[in-house]
Amino acid sequence: MLNTLKGKTVLVAGASRGIGLAIARAMAEAGAHTIVAARSLANLQAIATELNGAALELDVTSADSIHACAEQAGAVDILVNVAGINIRKPFERYTEQEYADIMQTNLHGIAHLTQLVGARMIERGAGGKIISIGSLASIRGLSYMAVYAMTKGAVMQLTRALAAEWGRYNIQVNCIAPGFIITDLNRAMWQSPEMLKWLQGSQANPSPGTPEDVAPLAVFLAGPGSAYITGQIIAVDGGYSTTANWPFHP
Ligand code: NAP
Repeated sequence: MLNTLKGKTVLVAGASRGIGLAIARAMAEAGAHTIVAARSLANLQAIATELNGAALELDVTSADSIHACAEQAGAVDILVNVAGINIRKPFERYTEQEYADIMQTNLHGIAHLTQLVGARMIERGAGGKIISIGSLASIRGLSYMAVYAMTKGAVMQLTRALAAEWGRYNIQVNCIAPGFIITDLNRAMWQSPEMLKWLQGSQANPSPGTPEDVAPLAVFLAGPGSAYITGQIIAVDGGYSTTANWPFHP
């Protein structure tokens, strides 16, 4: 019963594919009324039908769209912030537009949605859960994704600050930091045998992960079993952020 979400409504922002879709499926399986939101409405409608939930159009780069989504979602118990993009390139070569797009999607839009949904949670007085998807880039410096790392570092700090601020309303705020999870966001990069060989040599679990590896933690952080856990950044990364493989043999 610690993981049951029966009677709860979850809004998954960025649920049309990848990690967000796996989280939406797992939330529905745990009994939540699941609202899936993103830009690809046709795709979302099929998912909502599969999950017996609802679909809402959401573009986190548009303030109007964020307002409309928060309004239509109504009384949300659990908000999962997943929407995110990345552009990998040398820092000195980001255009103003690329910089703005990543900031707006991964940080400003997510922060805005959290403000609106969080305000309603506070007003309702029934507590709540906010789970944001950070990244390894929240906690480690990886080359060629500096702007992405700036946004994910900020999402981590937003998590900690809101956990402190909203604890009095019984709202727990946590952040999941996925490691190398193969999705549309990075599939091409992980086609490279060189990348896979590097991972086998450097990560405790030598394989890349799947969206289904991430989803169970989101369900746990959404459920009653995590009532005393807040302000945490939890990595789902096969050990990448905390272990090192080295050539020593006794
Ligand atoms: P993905 O398969 O590309 O999914 C991205 C999701 O974000 C889609 O549902 C997309 O939906 C949505 N999205 C993008 N821009 C949006 C916008 N402007 N408004 C609303 N929704 C938007 O990527 P993923 O790997 O599952 O990534 C999900 C999250 O996990 C991201 O925040 C990413 O940074 C994070 N993450 C991923 C990895 C990894 O290895 N894959 C690792 C660490 C963190 P639409 O295109 O339909 O709008």
